[in-house]
Amino acid sequence: MIQPASKNIKTSTVRRLKDLQKRINDQPTFKDMVKKAQSLWKSKSGSKVGKAAFEDIKQTLIDMCVSVEVCNYCEQNEANDIEHISPKSFFPKLTFVWLNYLLACAKCNTILKSDKCYVLDANDNTHFVKRGTQPPHPIYAFINPRLENPNDFLILNMQTFEFELMPGLNKKDTAKAEKTLEILQLNERSKLLEARESAAKYYYDRIERLVNILNSRTLPELKSHLTPYDTRFDFSQNITTIKAEIKTSFKNNIQIHQHPSVWHAIKKVESMTNSNWKNLFNQIPEALTW
Ligand SMILES: [Zn+2]
Repeated sequence: MIQPASKNIKTSTVRRLKDLQKRINDQPTFKDMVKKAQSLWKSKSGSKVGKAAFEDIKQTLIDMCVSVEVCNYCEQNEANDIEHISPKSFFPKLTFVWLNYLLACAKCNTILKSDKCYVLDANDNTHFVKRGTQPPHPIYAFINPRLENPNDFLILNMQTFEFELMPGLNKKDTAKAEKTLEILQLNERSKLLEARESAAKYYYDRIERLVNILNSRTLPELKSHLTPYDTRFDFSQNITTIKAEIKTSFKNNIQIHQHPSVWHAIKKVESMTNSNWKNLFNQIPEALTW
């Protein structure tokens, strides 16, 4: 699960959202509000103004993605949907609220998340909310990556590749983290576990090769650590410049790779507990800030 970068939408888009939201808030009952939210959401791009507003929203959400258009929840699938973090069928008052939007894949958004809702009461106890009913409490039991950093709630276990709760969470944050994992099935989807393991191998390979490249004394030695799939570099330059370019390129590759939560766990935990990683980070300590 990824916290997207923070960006603003156009003023005209903000205005459009406000207008649409007002039409929902003006409805007399919860059921009417949900009905209105659904119909307005369906027709949101029907007019010229609406189309422009939602193109702006989609593009801004794409620009906010850490990896290239990858789902902010599973960190794996292509993200095509504007997702309501708090579902509009339970929280119609958040249907046209910018901070409630996130780019997600169809599996996370439509298949897993849409029907399930838990809320927290004043004592942070969790309550399941049946579809079609109004939540009895306003706090949605789910991590909101637009407002909260999922890394404060969850950390990947690098042996099992499953997410675990960060130690020391209070009752409210424990409930949010547990329900987020349960709803999105982040530890049950075997493809995600495999992909996290393969991402770990990718990160290890990148950093190990980069260390070897930076330690190379001759150009042939340096070239022996490159693969045909690395970016092409200009080898007519001096070796220090070539090394600097390769370092920048590898850094960029790491920063846009899928499963940044794997990279996060490597920096946070593996760098201190795993001797292979410790050795690599000793030679390239700045990578701990990538
Ligand atoms: Zn997803």
